[in-house]
Amino acid sequence: MLSIIIGFVVFWIFARKLHLSKSIVPAVAIGLSVFISCVHLTLPPENNLRVALGGSLEPWALLISIFLVVYFYREILKRIRSLSIKNTQEIKSQHSSEISFSDVELDRYSRHMIGTIGIIDDDVVDQSNLQRQVIHNDHSIGLPKVFSAQKAIEDQNPYIKVKPYNRRLSRDIASELLSEYDIIIEGSDNFETRYLVNEVAKSLSKVVVSGALSQWEGQVMVFDHSLNSPCYQCIFPEKPAAGLAPTCAEAGVFSALPGVIGTLMAAEAIKHILDVGNGLNGVMLIYDAMQAETRSIKVNKATNCRICANGTV
Ligand SMILES: [Zn+2]
Repeated sequence: MLSIIIGFVVFWIFARKLHLSKSIVPAVAIGLSVFISCVHLTLPPENNLRVALGGSLEPWALLISIFLVVYFYREILKRIRSLSIKNTQEIKSQHSSEISFSDVELDRYSRHMIGTIGIIDDDVVDQSNLQRQVIHNDHSIGLPKVFSAQKAIEDQNPYIKVKPYNRRLSRDIASELLSEYDIIIEGSDNFETRYLVNEVAKSLSKVVVSGALSQWEGQVMVFDHSLNSPCYQCIFPEKPAAGLAPTCAEAGVFSALPGVIGTLMAAEAIKHILDVGNGLNGVMLIYDAMQAETRSIKVNKATNCRICANGTV
């Protein structure tokens, strides 16, 4: 009896090693079971073959039952695992087809995905601007800055829609114009415009990314007016006296500084769109180009701020 069991186990191991058909092991097991059962059921107890096979069918019946239970348990587990993998692959495939776009679809929707940039300015390109206002070039001298900027942006990416407004931002158009845009990137060179943008953006609950420059130093701040955050006038309640805060044109500015501050402002705007990272809402980031230092200052809402108290234009 023992020799038959050992022989069967050895056969099973070799069948696996030689990668024989998976059905050969259960087929041999069934054949052996039938043969042993026939010997015990048909031959008399004293028969030599029946004696050699143990003389009784009961231990064989127990052994065969254990074998069948183990074998079918393994087969059922394999089937379940295989079905689970297949379902997972189908779900992944379905999900992939839902979120991916064909080239034609990407082309069709590209203008919607990239969006619109509006630019408002009433100035024209001057030769003295070119060392720091890098969006303009020598061919643009004399052109309104909004058209020069529009051409530069469209030359770089023709899929962006640029809307130029060749005029000064005034109170009579501010609310209607700013309401068209999700984010206002404010880099004006005078306090009247800064205060106007702050007031209107506050009333519209818009986000303002603000940048300012002095000769060697730049500041970047974000005012998310959809939140209960400080506004520009909380920090600078009154405009400075004439002569205390000269414009870039009046005082001069380190040539690389507008590019650095402009890029930081673009980064904050993109982060806000993507809703990632820590933004500068309620924080003033100061970049000192002379000392190659940056500082961050937390700014608070002023209790006596007229704009925050009103919240309306
Ligand atoms: Zn305020």
